[in-house]
Amino acid sequence: MADVLIVGGGIGGLSLARELSLRGLRATVLEKAPQLDPVGAGIIMNPNAMRVLERNGLADAVRADSSPYLLRETCDARGRKLALRDYRPLYDAGKLARGALVHRAHLLDVLWRSLPSDTVRFGVGIRDIVLGSAGVRLSTARGESFEADLLVGADGIHSEVRRRVFGEFSPVYMGYRSHRLVVDNTGIGHFTEFLGHGRRIGLVPISAKRLYVWTTFNSPHDRPPRFDSVADFRNFFREFTDPRIAAVFSQLRSMDGVILTAIEELDLERWAHGRAALLGDAVHAMTPNIGQGAGMAMEDAAALAEELAGKETPEKALESYARRRRPRVQTVMRVSREVGADGQRSGMIECWLRNRRLQQEGRNAEKALAELEGLLRYPNEEESWARSGTSP
Ligand SMILES: Cc1cc2nc3c(=O)[nH]c(=O)nc-3n(C[C@H](O)[C@H](O)[C@H](O)COP(=O)(O)OP(=O)(O)OC[C@H]3O[C@@H](n4cnc5c(N)ncnc54)[C@H](O)[C@@H]3O)c2cc1C
Repeated sequence: MADVLIVGGGIGGLSLARELSLRGLRATVLEKAPQLDPVGAGIIMNPNAMRVLERNGLADAVRADSSPYLLRETCDARGRKLALRDYRPLYDAGKLARGALVHRAHLLDVLWRSLPSDTVRFGVGIRDIVLGSAGVRLSTARGESFEADLLVGADGIHSEVRRRVFGEFSPVYMGYRSHRLVVDNTGIGHFTEFLGHGRRIGLVPISAKRLYVWTTFNSPHDRPPRFDSVADFRNFFREFTDPRIAAVFSQLRSMDGVILTAIEELDLERWAHGRAALLGDAVHAMTPNIGQGAGMAMEDAAALAEELAGKETPEKALESYARRRRPRVQTVMRVSREVGADGQRSGMIECWLRNRRLQQEGRNAEKALAELEGLLRYPNEEESWARSGTSP
């Protein structure tokens, strides 16, 4: 029904192009980077994200270079086990799609390769956007012009489409920052996280050979830390004395390739305006604590494509899309924020109490799995329609 112009060729934008092409809708993606972003980090594809990929036919390709997400172990800073979450009973019972731990570059590559050639134009900067009642015209810094029935901003947390079409909205800094890096995997078999005092480290095997490592640490907004050397970096995380962490630090020769990110949130009430909509981080950037930002962008993409294929006008489709997605995204965003606040506790006593609580909760595996199932299940059609208050 509609030609769609997508600004941003990240996980959200490429997922939307995939979902649209499966439904016979034409999409063009304008990406400002000169090529696919080969960022040196891993990503957790939770069961709901993998369910989107199963439905759009890309799960096998993603899993071909990944580790299965079977267990999540939580330890204190010295490596003493607090809890072990085992996803296998939920997978074996067919309740969740099997999660995957992957390199971002591989995920982006699979998405990009799945698209008709010429779908993605790289190295494109926006000069102007004119939104009309029947469509949109976008001109680029190189002097090209694109016309489409619909514009989707999938251009991330600092979205240009959002600024031009929806107005100025600033992300909110959450009080902590994060490092991400990839090193050789010297024997980590499952996702293992270590909780310190206002600091955390996570080890995520993305293959038998590669390990994705993330940190978080409390940090004042206006004073970003400087890690001039590996020695500074290691010293900053010295409370983590477990040999598994020491094995990571011992591999580092320089800080090149270590990505430092401020953790921010953004939650827009308005997802659509006339013939324009936002998707992914452009409309709902969330903390990374439960590995769901990209998963939500992929769910958005599937829902938006379904609505565009099923509704008689783009405006109605965009309205349903926003109504259908916002409650789910807000729940996930809230849970992620709470997990982060708990993880970033810094006082001796509060950390001790947190660790003791996690240990106790870990003993009730059934309750923990039931809670997880609700969050990690891809919202099925009946639920979506019920929430939107309309019938299919
Ligand atoms: C530390 C950290 C860890 C995370 N871990 C996970 C995880 O394990 N699992 C998970 O699901 N999520 C995770 N996330 C969240 C996830 O990275 C994001 O939610 C996801 O990348 C959002 O995808 P997106 O396509 O909406 O935006 P982006 O990934 O930001 O992509 C936006 C794209 O738009 C392009 N762009 C920007 N401006 C323009 C412009 N003006 N014109 C054209 N193109 C433009 C950019 O170059 C980019 O390619 C994590 C986030 C952080 C910060």
